[in-house]
Amino acid sequence: MADFTIHTLGCGSARPTTRHNPSATVVEFRNNLFMVDCGEGAQKALLQQHLKISRLGHIFLTHMHGDHVLGLPGLISTLGLQDTGGELTIHTFADGASILKDIFNYFGRNLPYDIRFNILDPKREEVAFENKALTVRTLPLCHRVPAVGFVFEEKPRQRHLNREMCDFHGVPTSQFNNVKGGMDFVRPDGTVVPNERLTSPATPSLSYAHISDTIHLPELADRIGPVDLLFHETTYLDSELDMARRNYHTTARQAGEMARRCGARWLLTGHYSSRYDNEEEFRRQAMEEFPNVILNREGLRTDLTRLP
Ligand SMILES: [Zn+2]
Ligand SMILES: [Zn+2]
Repeated sequence: MADFTIHTLGCGSARPTTRHNPSATVVEFRNNLFMVDCGEGAQKALLQQHLKISRLGHIFLTHMHGDHVLGLPGLISTLGLQDTGGELTIHTFADGASILKDIFNYFGRNLPYDIRFNILDPKREEVAFENKALTVRTLPLCHRVPAVGFVFEEKPRQRHLNREMCDFHGVPTSQFNNVKGGMDFVRPDGTVVPNERLTSPATPSLSYAHISDTIHLPELADRIGPVDLLFHETTYLDSELDMARRNYHTTARQAGEMARRCGARWLLTGHYSSRYDNEEEFRRQAMEEFPNVILNREGLRTDLTRLP
C-alpha cells in the first residue's frame, strides 16, 4: 500500500471543459484518505481511481468557490447510502460551515455518518489536523475570497534498529521502541551504550504543500518551506499575466519561481484555465524557473516515496 501518494481527481478551474474536472485532490497517507477540495466530478473520479469513500475521514477546503466545493453535496448524499456509518470532518471557515450545514441538513437527513466541522481562521496559520504521524497546517493565501493552503507534514520517523548490535549489547526487545525513538541503552551494570551504536538515522520524513487559489505571493516561500512536492495553482500562462493579477491567480512561471524560492524538490501544476487546450506550455514556462515539474492531469498518482 502506498505510504504517501497524491491522487489528482480534478485539475481544471472554474469554467467546465471536456478535458478537466474542477479542483479535487486526495492525499493518501498510510491507508487514510484526506481530500483537499471537492469540485464537481470528484465522486466519479474517486470510483475511477479505486479510492473508497469509506476510507475518507477528512476534507480540507481551501476556499468557498464553486469549483472547489460543489462536489460536496453529492458526496454527502452518497454517504447516506453507506450502511456502515462513519465519521467525516470538514475543515473550513465559519461561513463555509454554515452554508454546508444548511445543504447537508436538507440532503443528508438521517445520515448514518457523523459529520463534524473544524472551523479554520483564514487570517492566521494554524494546525488543522494532527495525529501521531502527520500534521496538516494552514497558510493564509490571497484570493478574491478568504483562502488558505495546506501543508501535510509527516512527523519524524523512528531510527532504524541494528538488530546485530542490539543482540551484541544485550538490548531486550522491550527496549526496542525506546531505542528507535533515540534513547541510549543502559546495561544492568550501569554502562551506557550510545544510541548511534544501536541504530542508523531514520528515513527522512516527507511533506506536501497544496497552494490554490492565490495571487503570486513570493513572501509565502519561507512559510511553505522545502517540501518534497509543491502543488501550486498554475491557472494562466505568461500571456495572461495581467489577468492573473486581476483575478488573484498565478501563472506557471510564478509557480516555478515559488518552487525554487521555497526549496521544493518537485512542482505539481494544475487549476488550468479553460482557455488553453494544451498543457505542455505550462510545463515549459514553469521549467524556465524550476527544473522538476510534474504536469498534472486527472488520474495522476504522485507517490512521494518514489520521487527521485
Ligand atoms: Zn478555483
Ligand atoms: Zn477561487
